[in-house]
Amino acid sequence: MLSLAICTLSMFGGAASGEMPNLVDRQLVEYFGNAVAASKDGQPQKALAMLTLLLLPAGTGLSVDYSGLDSKTAEVFRAGVLRGIGLWQDALGSEMPITLASRTARPDIVLKFTDKVTGADCRCKGEIRSKRWIQWSDQVHYQQFSATITVCKYADSRLMTESEIAHIVAHELGHALGLGDVAETGNIMGPLEISNPYAKINPSEIEAVKSFRRLVKDQLAQIERR
Ligand SMILES: [Zn+2]
Repeated sequence: MLSLAICTLSMFGGAASGEMPNLVDRQLVEYFGNAVAASKDGQPQKALAMLTLLLLPAGTGLSVDYSGLDSKTAEVFRAGVLRGIGLWQDALGSEMPITLASRTARPDIVLKFTDKVTGADCRCKGEIRSKRWIQWSDQVHYQQFSATITVCKYADSRLMTESEIAHIVAHELGHALGLGDVAETGNIMGPLEISNPYAKINPSEIEAVKSFRRLVKDQLAQIERR
């Protein structure tokens, strides 16, 4: 069975921290460590901005670009995208920060389809490039999350199926929600098995996102109490 990696590229850096569920993306664990350090360093506004970004602001909008697809393909891919988002909506309920946005609104996350995903040495079938931007003073903070998700149209020489699209979309959203890649199939953060996509979220992955969010919220509450 052919397994293909799905990739992530994030733009930021920082120092390490413990206590996180081990499925959380290492770069985000570092980012969390930096936020905690900023708060201890007497920079609460900076820490608040960083922690808010780790949760993703509520109502983070995702818009999908179906241009360039024939109507039959667009219909299959749309069903896959909705299923992929739905997996996380079902898993997180009201905690799910990402919602589908209309293309007229200014979306925070743009999802588009491509013939070939580039930018990494693996044969990626999907990719998310995310950017976390913060600005702060002694009194206020601002933050902005933006990302582009690119999904490959083809598996081998045929178009992706609805389930394959659902797997890739849920995988990339898993990155946005804080998870890192794992090597084992049977996880949404594992590689995509062509013709046998998992397209579900493993309970341990749901638990990891929930405890990551709890940790970040606890930290936010601590700073706000001061
Ligand atoms: Zn990945």
